[in-house]
Amino acid sequence: MGELKSWQELTPGAAIDPQTAPRVETGSWRTGLVPEADLSKCVNCLLCWIYCPDSAIELDGTSFQGFDLGVCKGCEICAEVCPSGAILMVAEDGA
Ligand code: SF4
Ligand code: SF4
Repeated sequence: MGELKSWQELTPGAAIDPQTAPRVETGSWRTGLVPEADLSKCVNCLLCWIYCPDSAIELDGTSFQGFDLGVCKGCEICAEVCPSGAILMVAEDGA
């Protein structure tokens, strides 16, 4: 076997431009629940933003604003981690 090259000497295999993939609307299938926020209770800790597995928490700069239901799966994690009870899960059909 020949001498191994350093990674800097390897020929690039491919280059992919960032942020060119189409956005996937993962919210097209959901558990049947959607989160609702009471902004008067929100202390802007952003734990929901940190823990949401689908990046469905919308911010205005660094302030919690609400949810992007285009990608929210209704998993309830945001409601579970919210320390102030600002997030409630409700039935999607409003029932
Ligand atoms: S219910 Fe789940 S997917 Fe939807 S905003 Fe909360 S943590 Fe994110
Ligand atoms: S976890 Fe609750 S208190 Fe914290 S930013 Fe989200 S909604 Fe606001």
